[in-house]
Amino acid sequence: MCGIVGYIGEQQAYPILIKGLHRLEYRGYDSAGVSMINADGVLSVYKSKGKVSALEASVADKDISGTIGIAHTRWATHGEPNAINAHPHFSQSKNLSLVHNGIIENYKSLRIELEKNGMTFCSETDTEVLVQLVEYTQQQHGCDLYRATQLALKSVVGAYAIAILDKRNPDQLICARKGSPLIIGVGTNNGAGKGEFFLGSDATPIIEYTNKVIYLQDEEIAIMNRNGDLKITNLSNVKQTPQVHTLQMNLDELEKGGYAHFMLKEIYEQPNALRICTKGRLNIVDKDVLLSGIIDHKEKFVKARRIIICACGTSWHSALIGKYFIEEAAQIPVEVEYASEFRYRNPVIFPDDVVIAVSQSGETADTLAAIQLAKDKGAFLYGICNVIGSSIPRATDSGTYLHVGPEIGVASTKAFTGQVITLFMLGLAIAKEKKTLSEDMFHMLVDELQKIPDKMQWTLDHNKGIDNFAQMFTYARNFIYLGRGYNYPVALEGALKLKEISYIHAEGYPAAEMKHGPIALIDEEMPVVVIAPKRGMYDKIVSNIQEIKSRKGKIISVVTEGDTIVKGMSDYCFEIPDTRDCYVPLLAILPLQLLSYYVAIAKGRNVDQPRNLAKSVTVE
Ligand code: GLU
Repeated sequence: MCGIVGYIGEQQAYPILIKGLHRLEYRGYDSAGVSMINADGVLSVYKSKGKVSALEASVADKDISGTIGIAHTRWATHGEPNAINAHPHFSQSKNLSLVHNGIIENYKSLRIELEKNGMTFCSETDTEVLVQLVEYTQQQHGCDLYRATQLALKSVVGAYAIAILDKRNPDQLICARKGSPLIIGVGTNNGAGKGEFFLGSDATPIIEYTNKVIYLQDEEIAIMNRNGDLKITNLSNVKQTPQVHTLQMNLDELEKGGYAHFMLKEIYEQPNALRICTKGRLNIVDKDVLLSGIIDHKEKFVKARRIIICACGTSWHSALIGKYFIEEAAQIPVEVEYASEFRYRNPVIFPDDVVIAVSQSGETADTLAAIQLAKDKGAFLYGICNVIGSSIPRATDSGTYLHVGPEIGVASTKAFTGQVITLFMLGLAIAKEKKTLSEDMFHMLVDELQKIPDKMQWTLDHNKGIDNFAQMFTYARNFIYLGRGYNYPVALEGALKLKEISYIHAEGYPAAEMKHGPIALIDEEMPVVVIAPKRGMYDKIVSNIQEIKSRKGKIISVVTEGDTIVKGMSDYCFEIPDTRDCYVPLLAILPLQLLSYYVAIAKGRNVDQPRNLAKSVTVE
């Protein structure tokens, strides 16, 4: 977790690095730092606690010149967030500076060994061990920095993406990765001995300058030279041939576009994002589904003994909705697993299982490890991710990209609905192959699914005023969210959204579970959010609401447009258009996202960068 930026070329590095850090700040924001080599060969390191803006303020009177540099925004794993533990870290001689994303698992034993050999440490981080180890290895072997880095990394256990500056060689930038993402942007190379390269934990700090990128692979190490040369090898010094990809990303997608926060922009983007996600996949004329990811692998799905979906956080909630739908439509047993549990508990996986990894970033460390385990056991792997070229799509046999555009807000919104609609399309595509739905039912489900983006737009247009209403709940210390069937995962996701950005404790339950414990929590102070659409188990949920009302709980409901019964029982009511039971989550989640957003705003929270959280969890 954290963001790395790097630059070498003809331009001044600092403005590129700072802009890049701002773009990556969603990944970690407890401290930040930069390092440059100026024209006189001075290697500077500036770091500060807090946001990137604090770093900017702290360098106002410093020499920030130089055409080569590295930068970092940290999400601390080892050592508290302060300026000393912030990256970049110097080596003992101060010849090297290094930034790191990941965790070095054997850092303690390495540190003890290095200390025995006279190296001294300033910080509590695992990262400082890396820079000292590289320096020590270079001293011992008398080799160049590239070779020393290769050798040093061979004794490292854990995950890393690193970038290193060496003040004795200001014409080269070295980077390497294993387990944490790193992308090289290939800038202009005029063929006359002048070139430029960019580095980023993802493409967002790079896209402004070049759309040509190389995704560094695990255990690869690269050296970028100011003359435009690039060499990539593995840790055993075997040369690798880099593949240059062309990014399709648009710079506008990385800006807030007039919204106060990325999260709000992304909530309102959902109708269009889902139109793009389903484009070419839902065929309105033939009422058909076409998912290119399964075309060559139909048999794997048709013959699947079982589907296991591995995910974390919000993706786990979308996976649960996917389970309900795939089981109902395609009649295949589906298990939904927390990737972090699955990977460590020696699960039973059969070669005829299909294992689906759901992850917005495609870099979620636990999900990646879970599918590696499944791969070893021979299962077929399918990825559902948003970030193109990320690790999970590259590690899976096939998959589907969400195409909902970059999601910057830490609290996931459009990636959630993108995942849900993708799982619906997948369920329909499998059902078609397995012939588990009648033709009429299949056509009807396809037809209704393609209407969902318009119904989402209606939902957003008709639920204004949540901002005023949200003010009333800033007092609350707890919230309960209830739903049944397909709306139980929506209750979980609504509660998670509130927790993440407002820091109010919230729990989601299947509504009928209330009487098995949580009902004891209800009193006149407790807001209870109930998803109560007209379809499905409407009468049952009306009874559940009655039970809460009898105990004076405050009811906030999500109902089908025109409903009067639940509306009459509610203190506040959000309306959504009518749709099939299974598709309600795509509409019901929208007012819950807005509710959490406005409660958090009313409480003065930093919605896009909630405390302790980072966007993509690339560490365990
Ligand atoms: N483990 C390192 C630290 O705590 C890097 C964390 C990160 O990826 O930001 O400093």
